Amino acid sequence: MLVSMDKILNKAAKEGYGVVAPNVFNAETVEAAYKAAIEAKSPLIMDCAGILDLELISEVVRFFSKRYPEVTAALNLDHGKDYEVAVKAIRNGFTSIMVDRSTLPFEENVKQVAEVVKMAHAVGVSVESELGHVGQGVTYDNDRDAGLTNVDEAVDYINQTGVDCLAVSVGTAHGRYIGTPHIDFNRLAELKAKCSVPLVLHGGSSSGDDNLRKAVEIGITKVNIGTDLRTAGAIKVKENLVKAEFPNLAEIYADGTEGYKEMLKHYMMLFGCVNRERT
Ligand SMILES: [Zn+2]
Repeated sequence: MLVSMDKILNKAAKEGYGVVAPNVFNAETVEAAYKAAIEAKSPLIMDCAGILDLELISEVVRFFSKRYPEVTAALNLDHGKDYEVAVKAIRNGFTSIMVDRSTLPFEENVKQVAEVVKMAHAVGVSVESELGHVGQGVTYDNDRDAGLTNVDEAVDYINQTGVDCLAVSVGTAHGRYIGTPHIDFNRLAELKAKCSVPLVLHGGSSSGDDNLRKAVEIGITKVNIGTDLRTAGAIKVKENLVKAEFPNLAEIYADGTEGYKEMLKHYMMLFGCVNRERT
């Protein structure tokens, strides 16, 4: 069953566990995500970047949603950069959108996000946005502290925009780190205490299992994972490809999705979202 993302996150926040949001980018990764959710009896949030074929991904998600109705799932636009891509995602049946205006000044961020929230809520679609800025792992050593989320601003931001969940910057970064990830758990605890909506952590990959588990325990409800899943799939392909006498594309896809699925299940277990669904 496809639902808006806030339904999954509000339940998780109430019951105190984290939900993994894998980045999906084709039919194989959508199927792998569904299979991981079934095997782990976990809710599922699929994050899909705006540069991908949103119509195709949405059709594939609908296909698997019908095939596996027991999975409670949401399809979320990841880092929607403009109004047009938000509308496009909603027209294609996404049940949630992320509106990323995190590089704009506070007032402009509020203004643009509030406008999208009004439109999305009118059709039952939930909205995630980002305050502070989660940067890239490759520049981590230089800009780790530049975009950390201000707690008081976050409270105002939620009130003024009406967002359903908030991505916060507490020391993670997208992709692989150059440097060691250092998470500001005190800031996260303060955000959790003062913010009225579920909190989202971008840049989960390579942040370390202990760090991520602790972040979920303190108050993160959604953890985005992309790079670690793509890497796990590619490593599985590489291992089996060197052993194959006759390389076979069908086996390459199967190996890749198996590696992706197993890593996704690892994170589902780590964040306590297994056995949360009825069978
Ligand atoms: Zn992100």
